[in-house]
Amino acid sequence: RKTLNDYEWANPGQLGAGSYGVVRLAYDKYTKERFAIKIMQKSQIFKFCTIDNLKREIKIQKRMVHPNICKLYHYFEDKQNVYLVLEYAQRGNLFSVLKKANKMDESVAFWYFYQTCLAIDHLHHNQIIHRDLKPENLLVDQANNIKVCDFGWSAENSNNQIRTTFCGTVDYMAPEMVKRSTYDHRIDIWSLGVLLFELVHGYAPFQGNNQNQKLDNISKNKPIQFRPNLEFDLVDLIKNILQPNPEYRLTMPQIFDHPWMMRQYKKMN
Ligand code: ADP
Ligand code: MG
Ligand code: MG
Repeated sequence: RKTLNDYEWANPGQLGAGSYGVVRLAYDKYTKERFAIKIMQKSQIFKFCTIDNLKREIKIQKRMVHPNICKLYHYFEDKQNVYLVLEYAQRGNLFSVLKKANKMDESVAFWYFYQTCLAIDHLHHNQIIHRDLKPENLLVDQANNIKVCDFGWSAENSNNQIRTTFCGTVDYMAPEMVKRSTYDHRIDIWSLGVLLFELVHGYAPFQGNNQNQKLDNISKNKPIQFRPNLEFDLVDLIKNILQPNPEYRLTMPQIFDHPWMMRQYKKMN
């Protein structure tokens, strides 16, 4: 069993800052293989009463083995912290990748969107809802592959129809959650629609001067403004994912079979 002593910190090596601590680059002392270690301060965990969230984060991420899901290799703790040893994603998160690109061509957007869909499909097949899909929680590795991370809000569907609220960014929140009604895995599908919109625009579809205005725009089903010259089939796909009523929202198989996706698969070969 691994301990903190098996790793050496890289300098400066900070990869990100999270709500409960920092994520730092480290390497295995013996194999020199690199890892990202998420350091979570116990004082912070207890302050926010999220010990259950942390247990769930570890349990779920440990179980999920998929090329587009960030692998959790080991975890351990000392007096102050809990440490998660994660697969290292060299290019950081998709938010910073998108900021550098400003906005993406549809083929680039497809590449990231499709891989995120594969990961989400895998989670849903395993009765897991991610619940916090957004570009900050999508990592990009050296080969430009998506690695979905941050299972801190994820939930197992076995206890069906969970009710809860979020803190943090609201741009990716589904209307049924904004309205505080019951919801299920289809909230992740909504987030995929927001993601695809944001990748090709450089900003999220629901805007507002403050958080409440944004939430209002989401729940009141304000029509989405697309930029001119966006391909018709891409607009159609986004519109049909961003269906406020989850009953009418596209399902994962319908997304994979959508004409825009079909057109992109052909371009890949
Ligand atoms: P939090 O739960 O606090 O949001 P995250 O797990 O989302 O923490 O990590 C915060 C940030 O740290 C990410 O947005 C990313 O920039 C960086 N990060 C996290 N894990 C990795 C990793 N495996 N490789 C590279 N960077 C990472
Ligand atoms: Mg995060
Ligand atoms: Mg988290």
